[in-house]
Formats: sequence, C-alpha cells, structure tokens
Amino acid sequence: MSDQPTPAVQITPPPTPKTTPGYCETGRPVCGEPARLYPAGWRCGLHSPAGWAAHLASQGDANQLAA
Ligand SMILES: [Zn+2]
Repeated sequence: MSDQPTPAVQITPPPTPKTTPGYCETGRPVCGEPARLYPAGWRCGLHSPAGWAAHLASQGDANQLAA
C-alpha cells in the first residue's frame, strides 16, 4: 500500500471569458449579439470574417486586413 501524500497542486483553468453558445464572443466587453459558429468561434453578422471585412472596407481600411 502506498502511503504517499497526494501533491497539493491545484489546477487553475485559464481566465478565459465565459461565453454563451449562440452569442457573439468578440469584443471587449463581449459583443453578445446573436451569432453563428465559425471556425474562430461565435461571431455575429458584424464580427464574422466576411462581415468584419465589409465593415473595414466601408471605412476604407480594407488594405489593413493583411497587415
Ligand atoms: Zn459581435
């Protein structure tokens, strides 16, 4: 029988923001708009890759997408 004490190591999860499935998790504070699931996570119409590109293009910043 092993009498070794268990190591007192506490695993602390990283402080990731708690997001709600179905709502945009982009932004600070979190956007929170109804969203769809993209490979990058939950994104609303504005924060989806295509939506954000269109948003930047409307501001004339489309060239900074690859920067
Ligand atoms: Zn959003």
